[in-house]
Amino acid sequence: MATFEEMILRARDAAYTTEKKTTEFVNKTRVKLEIAQLQKQQAAIFEGVGRLEYDAAESGEDITALKAEAFETVRDLQKKIDKCHDRLYSMSGAVRCKDCAAVNDGDAVFCKKCGKTL
Ligand SMILES: [Zn+2]
Repeated sequence: MATFEEMILRARDAAYTTEKKTTEFVNKTRVKLEIAQLQKQQAAIFEGVGRLEYDAAESGEDITALKAEAFETVRDLQKKIDKCHDRLYSMSGAVRCKDCAAVNDGDAVFCKKCGKTL
């Protein structure tokens, strides 16, 4: 039978674990929201490029430079999204291979897809 002190310690450990899990959940949710916002910005740019293409087709204007600028912004946003995914993976104990981008278990030494050292 557990002593009163042991019961208190168990309750404290349970509270600590719950708090830790809640913090983890909140942090993961924040990163997921950040990803959603970045993807929304990308979608807006893609929509804008579609509008530009249409307007250019109507007016005959050259929009090559504008599109290049828009695609550069899309690439920058994608880099931020990739970093967010990496943060999520590391929060889950997983690691992404730098060569092939496969997601591996946190304790893996070699990539399960390409075999490179992680
Ligand atoms: Zn790999």
